[in-house]
Amino acid sequence: MGNLVFGQQALPTLAIEADTARYEVRRIFCVGRNYAEHALEMGNAVDRSAPFYFTKSPFAVLTDGADFPYPPETQDCHHEMEFVVALSDDGIFGYACGLDMTRRDLQAIAKEKRRPWDVAKDFEHSAILGALTPAERFGDIGHQAISLRVNGETRQNATLDTMIHSVPAILQDLAKFYTLGAGDIIMTGTPAGVGAVQRGDTMVGSIDGLSDLVVNVV
Ligand code: MN
Repeated sequence: MGNLVFGQQALPTLAIEADTARYEVRRIFCVGRNYAEHALEMGNAVDRSAPFYFTKSPFAVLTDGADFPYPPETQDCHHEMEFVVALSDDGIFGYACGLDMTRRDLQAIAKEKRRPWDVAKDFEHSAILGALTPAERFGDIGHQAISLRVNGETRQNATLDTMIHSVPAILQDLAKFYTLGAGDIIMTGTPAGVGAVQRGDTMVGSIDGLSDLVVNVV
């Protein structure tokens, strides 16, 4: 193999609670409309037949409490607080808080024109991921609260057991389409209450049993 003309582009890594090792991210799968109240607030029917997905590049990851630069080409950048599942080669490695940042205005145009969502969803810093908690320490997924506050005001607030498609159901379905393994991240969808952020805002995402995600919009 020859030398690379522009050198190596390292994949992003996530911190792991109580561990000095880090988790390398290779793919990011996102589930759409996985909470009924959110599907309804976006004007969609609730579809329980099967999950659907879009993806983000690993180079869209923002970690370790870094600031979120307000993205270009949008007037309506939304927060979507999500429960994040990180896989190993044998199953689930751990969980984290995540934010699926979205150019909602561009997504609305894409939906109307039946175009792909990429520029609305997969842009630099749009996949904000917190530190991972190992699955055995988190325990069973159930009635844990998931919430997002912006400048101290609660915007999103639900429990993980209100997902339309559970984590095991998502994994079983997604594995029909992809050979899943270590480095694969799944953002499992957002509860109702999505909304716009502005420069100067502070977002605090919380899920019971996981470390908070704190991000400033700059
Ligand atoms: Mn989402």
